Amino acid sequence: MDLFEYQGKQLFARYDIPVSPGEAVTEVEAAVAAADRVGYPVVVKAQVQVGGRGKAGGIKLAANAEECREHASNIIGMDIKGHTVNVVWIERASDIAEEYYASFTLDRAKKLHLGMLSAQGGVEIEAVAEENPDAIAKIWIDPVDGLTEAVARAWVAAANLNPAATDGAVDILLKLYNAYVDGDGDLVEINPLILTPEGKVHALDAKVSLDNNAEFRHEWAEYAATQERDDREQAAHEADLQYVGLEGSVGIIANGAGLAMSTLDVVNQAGGSPANFLDVGGGADAKKFINALTIIDNDPRVKSILINIFGGITRGEEVANGIVAALGQIDITSPIVIRLDGTNADEGRAILEPHLSEKLQMSPTMLEAAKTAVALAKR
Ligand code: GDP
Ligand code: MN
Repeated sequence: MDLFEYQGKQLFARYDIPVSPGEAVTEVEAAVAAADRVGYPVVVKAQVQVGGRGKAGGIKLAANAEECREHASNIIGMDIKGHTVNVVWIERASDIAEEYYASFTLDRAKKLHLGMLSAQGGVEIEAVAEENPDAIAKIWIDPVDGLTEAVARAWVAAANLNPAATDGAVDILLKLYNAYVDGDGDLVEINPLILTPEGKVHALDAKVSLDNNAEFRHEWAEYAATQERDDREQAAHEADLQYVGLEGSVGIIANGAGLAMSTLDVVNQAGGSPANFLDVGGGADAKKFINALTIIDNDPRVKSILINIFGGITRGEEVANGIVAALGQIDITSPIVIRLDGTNADEGRAILEPHLSEKLQMSPTMLEAAKTAVALAKR
């Protein structure tokens, strides 16, 4: 679960990480009122879960109420890379001497936490990694040992931060590691971490992604309520389907997350591009397929639909009956290609057989089915 910058900063503040005082608002006049309380100059910051807001014009300095009003009215409602700005965060502006980068995430392959620190912050870390990988100091932390002050100090030295920033950076990195572990983050990132002309180190941005599996031990209801979802994702969420919206033209339904992922790959392999990830899960009742097919068919990007089912505990004939019943109750615009394999696949195929047409095709293999779906999407 991804947080907005303001939520990330509120979380950081609970772990004693220095952030600027600020307020989140949704209206222009509320932004001005907030700025009056926060104290000028302020920064008006678009709250969307996508990077590069600064470059897109979503982050503006305001010296007084008039400037704040102007920027807030431009930024609220603005589109940044397909994300509409509904909330702005008004914070006290900082003076910047230097901009750094700091983050913790999980290195799954190494089974260790990965910390990254760079003196070249403020720009996208992917660009630094590409052009100047040596400028990123990495450490791997065994969760059993944790991050010690001595290790943090050596890490800061390796990253070549300004010596004036050393103590402040060590302090923040220890607290950030604690926020990451204790707060159950998948990722915590500060970019930029700044050194002010007065020698203070301070988090100017916050990117936090939480580990959904740890939800039971936290109060995350507020974060869950403000999740950014497009209309398709919202509908899928309400129908309790595991769905992620993508940009391609082949709608996808599969049973099991792994099979759904492979289906995306195979559609790409066949020269197409998937419109979504959708795992209908186990079971095969008509209701599930009605919901899944309706959400996918309502997506204007979708030109064909690929249903990829591998029967396991859920048997092929149950799935086939579910699909047939669903198609009897709803009208689907896009042509559908089904691949059905696994337990009782023959029984399932026999049930589907009499319903096949131009608009409902069946293919014996995953690759064949993907090729057919891609060809239909391109027609
Ligand atoms: P992002 O573009 O989405 O990563 O948004 P950031 O919050 O990182 O802000 C982008 C850039 O805006 C930063 O790297 C800073 O250069 C600038 N910026 C943000 N807040 C302030 C501030 O308080 N004072 C000054 N002078 N610049 C700021
Ligand atoms: Mn940033």
